Amino acid sequence: MSTASTRPVPKPGVLAIDTYVPGRSGATGVSKVYKLSSNETPLGPSPAALEAARAAINHIEAYPDGGVTRLREAIGRRFGLDPARIVCGAGSDDILHLLAQAYVGPGDEGILTEHGFLVYKIAIQAAGGTPVIAPETNFTTDVDAILARVTERTKIVYIANPNNPTGTYLPFDEIKRLHASLPGHVVLVLDGAYAEYARANDYSAGTELVSENENVVLTRTFSKVYGLAALRIGWAYGPAGIIDSLNRIRGPFNVNTPASEAAIASLADEAHLASSLTHNSEWLEWLTGSLKALGLEVTPSAANFLLVHFPPETGKDAQAADAFLAARGVIVRAVAAYGLPHALRISVGTEEANRLLVATLAEFQGQVND
Ligand SMILES: *Cc1c(COP(=O)(O)O)cnc(C)c1O
Repeated sequence: MSTASTRPVPKPGVLAIDTYVPGRSGATGVSKVYKLSSNETPLGPSPAALEAARAAINHIEAYPDGGVTRLREAIGRRFGLDPARIVCGAGSDDILHLLAQAYVGPGDEGILTEHGFLVYKIAIQAAGGTPVIAPETNFTTDVDAILARVTERTKIVYIANPNNPTGTYLPFDEIKRLHASLPGHVVLVLDGAYAEYARANDYSAGTELVSENENVVLTRTFSKVYGLAALRIGWAYGPAGIIDSLNRIRGPFNVNTPASEAAIASLADEAHLASSLTHNSEWLEWLTGSLKALGLEVTPSAANFLLVHFPPETGKDAQAADAFLAARGVIVRAVAAYGLPHALRISVGTEEANRLLVATLAEFQGQVND
């Protein structure tokens, strides 16, 4: 008992976790703040979703439906999926954690990419596993780099497609090539948080790969294009075996009623979805062109945000740009924690926010050139 501590000590791995730091939401000394730091939709949720959430709030004394049956059925109808193979979560973060809890333990490894979503790393560590980082090529997931890191200890591979914070995507052929070379015991997680935004012909969220295999899971969220981030609602589509495991370990009431009701209403409002997507594609293109015209390097994005590079040798680095923007009320995301100290991630905002962003960066760049 000589190693006994006088106070509780978390299991190995927990204290190795770097706490997730969300995008900032405020700035001091400015009257109006434009939050472009969390990839939220500038158009907000569908009015029908708001109404559904408000109606559900009147009955919050009752436990939610633990099976989230009506929402799973609505998702099934909308995407042509078997509701029995869908599990819902308190945001897709909930599901990303459950996957690691179910499939990763001490001595196991989980793979994520160099600039991959940090929740994957935290989920692997929280489960007691070891995160293994696969380098990217041109800020893009590199299938061969992932495959080179697969060992008999590998239990899970997480890929966001499109990826956050880079905005890049992998063509479906590459995802299929990755899957074809992965051992059958490895769970391949395809995180489609930004799937709605990806419009390229060679892109697929991967539904058919899930349907045809026992080791591929797709996660989706209502936090981004559907505008329900505060309600915490996401879902996974997976093989029966994986869905069964997730259902055994998830919180029995992990999805609240206002969230599931709002999600059902969101799915029905296709016009709102269409206008949100139109807004995004128009302004993503405008922002990309405008920022490039200022001499900034912009990674091509398939999502609702841009990775903008500020080479430190120009004299004004990402930190200076971040501070310059924040002082004028434009809040963007520093991504040093993602291995990108010389870049900022900037969400597509309202027209007003987008124009202010570009005007402010023009001023910032002008100072660089003086
Ligand atoms: C925003 C985001 C999610 C969604 O998280 P929720 O928990 O559903 O809000 C998942 N994956 C990535 C890569 C994201 O950027």
